[in-house]
Amino acid sequence: MFKATRLYSILFNKCPCCHKGSFFIDGNPYRLKHFDKIHSHCSYCQEDFVREVGFYYGAMYVSYGLSVGIGIGLFLILVVWAGLNVLPFLICYSLLILFLSPWVFRKSRLVWINLFVRFNPDYIGTEEKMRIKKNN
Ligand SMILES: [Zn+2]
Repeated sequence: MFKATRLYSILFNKCPCCHKGSFFIDGNPYRLKHFDKIHSHCSYCQEDFVREVGFYYGAMYVSYGLSVGIGIGLFLILVVWAGLNVLPFLICYSLLILFLSPWVFRKSRLVWINLFVRFNPDYIGTEEKMRIKKNN
């Protein structure tokens, strides 16, 4: 569906270049011992995931944006739509952000590297190329 788009890499934790190799060592973000560990290179195309020291500092901006977006969405649902007071909203938001922080951390890194690494269609097979061409 999203194959060959940046969204595919972000949603399925795949290499931004080939969409084949895994980006993170452990697929589960809630195994807290390994939730932040990434492979140094893609196992399929050898794309460098650790591009330079401090490369992922920029992912903090993405993380901030995601967290604010989640907060705005939750505010619209709980306060504007459901009519809750601000205090229950803040408690719910704090708990939700705490629960989602490993997931937000991972998606932020994937969004960040996808800003700099483009998908290379040479890494997909001809059948997939034909399917993508047909869908577009
Ligand atoms: Zn790759």
